[in-house]
Amino acid sequence: MANIVTRFAPSPTGFMHIGNLRTALYSYLLAKSQGGKFILRIEDTDQVRLVEGATDVIISTLKQTGIDYDEGPGVGGEHGPYVQSERLPIYKEYAEKLVKSGHAYYCFCTQERLDSLKDENGIGGYDGHCRNLSQEEIDRNLAEGKPFVIRQRMPDEGSTSYVDEVYGEVTIENSELRDQIMIKADGFPTYNFCHVVDDHLMGVTHVVRGNEYLTSTPKYCLLYDAFGWERPHYVHLPLLMGKDAEGNVSKLSKRHGAVSFQDLVNDGYLPEAIVNYIALLGWAPKDTQEFFTMDELKANFGLDGLSKSPAVFDYEKLRWFNSEYIKKLPDADYNEKALPILRELCPDFINIEKLASLLHTRISAFCEIREQVQFVVNRLEMTSDLYTNKKNKTTPELCKTILEETLPLLEGVENWDNDTLFALLKQYAADTERKAGAVMWAIRVAIARQSVTPGGATELMEVFGKDESIDRIRQAIAEL
Ligand code: GLU
Repeated sequence: MANIVTRFAPSPTGFMHIGNLRTALYSYLLAKSQGGKFILRIEDTDQVRLVEGATDVIISTLKQTGIDYDEGPGVGGEHGPYVQSERLPIYKEYAEKLVKSGHAYYCFCTQERLDSLKDENGIGGYDGHCRNLSQEEIDRNLAEGKPFVIRQRMPDEGSTSYVDEVYGEVTIENSELRDQIMIKADGFPTYNFCHVVDDHLMGVTHVVRGNEYLTSTPKYCLLYDAFGWERPHYVHLPLLMGKDAEGNVSKLSKRHGAVSFQDLVNDGYLPEAIVNYIALLGWAPKDTQEFFTMDELKANFGLDGLSKSPAVFDYEKLRWFNSEYIKKLPDADYNEKALPILRELCPDFINIEKLASLLHTRISAFCEIREQVQFVVNRLEMTSDLYTNKKNKTTPELCKTILEETLPLLEGVENWDNDTLFALLKQYAADTERKAGAVMWAIRVAIARQSVTPGGATELMEVFGKDESIDRIRQAIAEL
């Protein structure tokens, strides 16, 4: 489609939920897959729910994920301003148009009166009391300075339908629609009204958003109709779900794990991996490809791949994606993330560059580094049965002999690096007619004090440095 325009219209109410990020991504991809335009609009008219700094979080998240907007705060564009609280006169002007055409009306009902319409459970809506006030009455109320809201006048009869691109036809009986507020008494518009005005004025052709708006969209369609505007296409996305330990599925929330983009990044997930994973949470590519760069997503994305069944966020799967992305990271980029963590955790004598390179293919998230290097940071408690290894035919006794015999050789080493140490131990094994594997096992366990380690004996010796390695071997001999 030519000139497709989509938008992401978040309310700055806190962190960036991963479900919102997916909405932004799909909206962006829909535009970009067809050479269209993508707009960021900040919906901050619900002043009670505003959280300071939340807009910055939105903007920085989009930046980090490579979701570039063509128009929006900080970027500008022909349809600005892009922050709704800066557009109040526009909403007033358009609300008045609908009052004039009879599609909206002033309502002077007091809060007390509205409260009295509710039952004991707080349920019960507006009864249309001010629908048919005479012009005189309206003028008198306005002259008296009575507070008022502007309400949308819903049709009394018939029904309203639209065809959602994901869910198909949605129909609502107009009799079920309440005369919703468009402009509040404080002059601020409601989301229900102003997003329609903005989407129209900004030329939005496809509204992509969460399916919580699926059934209120007929009301928005009626606004388009009342203005005589062309309705946009609607693309409602299914909820993102999470699974708890018992296997129960519910809306993705904190109890399932980190749910904000920032928390995931802080846990060591790479933005590229997050984007790749969430792209597939509700959209299926035509073939079995799993890894997508942003450019590949743009080339492949299409509405026909969207599913209406809720997607379940799988942390295991994200971890797998992340490990693949970490493996592919160039050393410099990897080190930029890994070294600060290691520097903070490890004692000064540790060769953290070497340690980082041993971990590069062994972590699936940067948060795992802490766990992985516990054996470096501390001398772990251990028992001698770790020295027993079937494959290498080692026993604690044999290991003790190996450690005692290699200790003086190691003490004499001047160039404490992997290659020198490896050659020395190979030679020792040959000289003593022992299996090299047995020699390496004894030393690796003595030094690491655990049986599974990133890297072999000599690599770890290089990581620990000469003094610490020798000291750990001495301790191991004493314990055996
Ligand atoms: N501000 C609304 C929200 O964050 C936007 C919904 C929409 O995209 O129309 O839920």
